[in-house]
Amino acid sequence: MLFRSLILKASGLGWVKKLVTRSRLFRPMIKRFIAGETLTDAFQVAEALAGGCMNVSLDLLGENVATEIEAERATAAYIEVVEKIAQSEFKDKINISIKLTMLGLDQGDAVAESNFRRLLTAAKPHGIFVRADMEASAYTERTIAMIERVYGQFPNTGTVLQSYLHRTQEDVERLIRLGCRVRIVKGAYLEPEAVAFQDKEVVDAEYLKAAKRLMEAGNYPAIATHDAGIIQKLKDYAELQKIPKERFEWQFLYGIRRDLQDQLRDEGYNVRIYVPYGAQWYPYFSRRLAERPANMLFIAKSLVRK
Ligand SMILES: Cc1cc2nc3c(=O)[nH]c(=O)nc-3n(C[C@H](O)[C@H](O)[C@H](O)COP(=O)(O)OP(=O)(O)OC[C@H]3O[C@@H](n4cnc5c(N)ncnc54)[C@H](O)[C@@H]3O)c2cc1C
Repeated sequence: MLFRSLILKASGLGWVKKLVTRSRLFRPMIKRFIAGETLTDAFQVAEALAGGCMNVSLDLLGENVATEIEAERATAAYIEVVEKIAQSEFKDKINISIKLTMLGLDQGDAVAESNFRRLLTAAKPHGIFVRADMEASAYTERTIAMIERVYGQFPNTGTVLQSYLHRTQEDVERLIRLGCRVRIVKGAYLEPEAVAFQDKEVVDAEYLKAAKRLMEAGNYPAIATHDAGIIQKLKDYAELQKIPKERFEWQFLYGIRRDLQDQLRDEGYNVRIYVPYGAQWYPYFSRRLAERPANMLFIAKSLVRK
């Protein structure tokens, strides 16, 4: 946890950002986690995965736009992705994940909701699912409330809950009542003690509790983790409770634990890979580095070798 918070804090410094975005040393690691900078790059990866019996969620990277015009531009870019998916032979295997702050949440709920509804309207006739990723805790309530407002008209949407937040078990029940699809994750942001558990063991225990409840009573939940121990426990639980494999899916981030992704697919589970792409990859990349000391070690070794 200390390592994660150090890396996340360092990534906010201007000179660190410059170093990471300009130095060639980081390129192999960036390539491992990010599908490319353009929609064409992302589609190449997505269709190759879909051809290999994986499902995909495309994520056009970016967060926190500064103006309503930028939010409109982001909405248009998301709609372009939806239209491209609609034309793909793998249409049924590809959906999208979005950030409400890209649709204008900082400019007001009404701005973001109007853009979100435009996007959902474009996706609905094609049966394309649009998931609102969960961002920092300042947005949790507003994200859930947004989903509650639009879900009646747009059942092709859902969101994400983070097991590190104190509030999450209640949100699990709230979204089970609503009936929308939920992705459960541990949580990737730097959150204070007042709202989030700081102890990894507690976050893991809360994850298991929320995931089990969603597997029992949720609408096609997404169990998103690379934690092999947790995955095994949940597989055992599903078997014990006779929860069929079609009732849920596993989700992984592109480039992480490919062995486990393939293994689960070969065992007959639904697996979806979250494929991020776009020019604004830096915050996403920083969160991935912070999750695992070995990622930083890899970079440190390349620096020493130079
Ligand atoms: C599909 C998907 C969508 C997500 N969406 C959101 C979201 O909307 N909001 C949000 O806050 N978070 C999101 N996350 C991130 C999540 O919150 C965690 O930060 C991230 O998944 C790491 O936690 P973990 O469950 O893999 O467990 P950890 O305990 O962090 O890791 C378990 C093991 O997984 C492997 N691993 C984990 N991370 C890495 C890495 N970066 N590089 C290499 N190996 C790694 C390591 O072997 C590690 O020991 C998402 C994650 C996934 C998989």
